[in-house]
Amino acid sequence: MQKSIERIAGDSDGVSYEFPVFRFDGADKAAPSAYLQAALHAGELPGVVAIDALMPMLNKAEAEGRIKGNITIVPWANPIGRAQYHFGEHQGRFHLGTRTNFNRGFPLLTAPDAKFLPDTTFGGADQRLKSRLVQLSLGHDIVLDLHCDDEGLAYLYVHTSLWPAMADCAAAMGVDAVVLWSEDTDGTFEGASIMPYQNASADVAKLDRRVATTVEYRGILDVDGALAASDAEGLYRLLAMRGVISDATLPATGPFKGVAAPLENIDMMPAPRAGAVLYDVKPGDRVARGARLATIVHAPGEADGRTEVFAPQDGIILTRRSRRIIRAGEDLLKLVGDRKSSDARSGTLED
Ligand SMILES: [Zn+2]
Repeated sequence: MQKSIERIAGDSDGVSYEFPVFRFDGADKAAPSAYLQAALHAGELPGVVAIDALMPMLNKAEAEGRIKGNITIVPWANPIGRAQYHFGEHQGRFHLGTRTNFNRGFPLLTAPDAKFLPDTTFGGADQRLKSRLVQLSLGHDIVLDLHCDDEGLAYLYVHTSLWPAMADCAAAMGVDAVVLWSEDTDGTFEGASIMPYQNASADVAKLDRRVATTVEYRGILDVDGALAASDAEGLYRLLAMRGVISDATLPATGPFKGVAAPLENIDMMPAPRAGAVLYDVKPGDRVARGARLATIVHAPGEADGRTEVFAPQDGIILTRRSRRIIRAGEDLLKLVGDRKSSDARSGTLED
């Protein structure tokens, strides 16, 4: 394994950013290669500790000559967001300088070739970072972007062209749900990892070999040694199953038994009032249409001071907020419905 340091120039003299990259050289040039990154939203740490738990497994595989395909790992993908503290609170989701979500605005290349990357000399540090991350990931067959939600189940975003070919990956990782999306106009990292290949050719075999996903490792507080160990095992199983590493000792993984639903089935449930949220449901709960999901206490102690929110359809609770203060119009939770949501929003993944 080789470690190198990437440097991203800041936007003023005396400021620059660094992050480490680990590379394992595969012994078999025909084997699939893999790229893993974590903490693109810089405060989302379950993937960071999963990588920390995965590294000894990969080091062991390397020592035993079992690394077949190249592996590139970026455990801290966002040094800019990592350094952003605003009045003592960490802000790792949006770039403070531009208010842009760190998982938007990635270059969507017409083909998987670094020569199509935009010139970011004057584009801002966050654009230079995004361009570099895409460049680091280009050419890898498997691209995993490790995130987490507020409070949630373990789930994946997957482009419809890779489903159900990626069901084995979902099973290997042990996630509870898969959300399928089809269009990216915003430039998510996942979009930047799949759209160039969509445009490049209709080579079905190539797409069957390709893995690109945003992994939502539960909630922001689920940074835990036992979960990190089991997530690392899931990542390792995926790499072994897809032939990036070889491991004859691994038992077979059964079929994916979780929920797979299109993005348009998700109801986000905007809050009708501002106030304090009392949830009736938690991630993983199955709800029926009409079930109460939450009560917003907007005028405590007053008649009509509470507003209740009900499930618009049958489904499963995927996520909810980690904080209980809410403004009117902010989303209360993600309900993966059995049918298309009447509130279906356009766009890509919600991460
Ligand atoms: Zn995220």
